[in-house]
Amino acid sequence: MGVTNEPADDASTLVEVLRQLSDEGYRHELIALGDSDVRCAVCDEQFGADEVTVDGSRHVEVASDPDESSTVIWGTCPNCGQRVVSVLGYGSAASPTDQTTFDRLDVDHSGDTAEPNNKRN
Ligand SMILES: [Zn+2]
Repeated sequence: MGVTNEPADDASTLVEVLRQLSDEGYRHELIALGDSDVRCAVCDEQFGADEVTVDGSRHVEVASDPDESSTVIWGTCPNCGQRVVSVLGYGSAASPTDQTTFDRLDVDHSGDTAEPNNKRN
């Protein structure tokens, strides 16, 4: 296995978040296409981001490099029902595509859900 002398907050890095999500079945990518459309990597279907059932989101901040900050959003594909995950840039790292996609997704904008296994509602 890898390095063990990482700082304690390493558990909240993008890699760790994605690994945790993968453990919960969110293994497939949801690709932001722009104009708030997304594409599911499983069924290759394209649809509006607002059609995705969002199960949760998490903001991953990289203190040393704000340009690497991102928002991880996970949910269910409305077409094939597979669990999908999308990584969008956050703040200064957000491209126009990231921003419009995030705005269109049915994310709880009031704050991050704490853990990938949290369910909304
Ligand atoms: Zn799909």
